[in-house]
Amino acid sequence: MSDEQDQANSGTDRLESYRAKRDLGRSTEPTGDEAVEDLPQPVYLVQKHDASQLHYDLRLQVVDVLASWAVPKGPSTDPATRRLAMRTEDHPLAYAAFEGVIPEGEYGGGTVMVWDRGTFQNLWEEKDEPRTMAECLDEGRIEIRVEGEKLQGGYALIRTSKPEEERERWLLIKMKDDHAQRDVDITEEQPDSVLSGRNLEEIAEESPAESPEMDKDEK
Ligand code: MN
Repeated sequence: MSDEQDQANSGTDRLESYRAKRDLGRSTEPTGDEAVEDLPQPVYLVQKHDASQLHYDLRLQVVDVLASWAVPKGPSTDPATRRLAMRTEDHPLAYAAFEGVIPEGEYGGGTVMVWDRGTFQNLWEEKDEPRTMAECLDEGRIEIRVEGEKLQGGYALIRTSKPEEERERWLLIKMKDDHAQRDVDITEEQPDSVLSGRNLEEIAEESPAESPEMDKDEK
């Protein structure tokens, strides 16, 4: 393929924005150099992020990074509910195992929980004119079957912003299938971590001291 395609498929280049936004010496977030052998792939996950405003981060593996969206209200299991999903920078695969506290003052400062995790299938692969996930992302229409611990079944992500807009706005919509549920608020009913069973407060309390200042105070 073209050089452009090569570049789009290179995890190192696709993490440039991720690295530029963070001080990875201060934050305990993954650098992108970690091994990720124990993750079932392609990875699907939703993180609950108690930053300046509580939100949920949906991440889907595309080639060797996690394409990401911030979903202010979190996912819904009701096909009649459309949830705003703002595209954010691609994250390293190792982010799928990150649960802890981003220090205050750092980008995204606050507590991060792995709210749901599993794998997914790209439903566009089965269509008459198949599309890869990278193509779906470019074209602004994704259809996946999620196999998480909390979320299952079909979900569509549709880009609604215009190309000239600086931030990509998408809608996250549950597709109609056996896993659709109308009268359930999944984020209320299942608030805790699928990795550790902890709630946000427990993650915050148990997180080791991260800032150099705090280390000094303890000695
Ligand atoms: Mn976030």
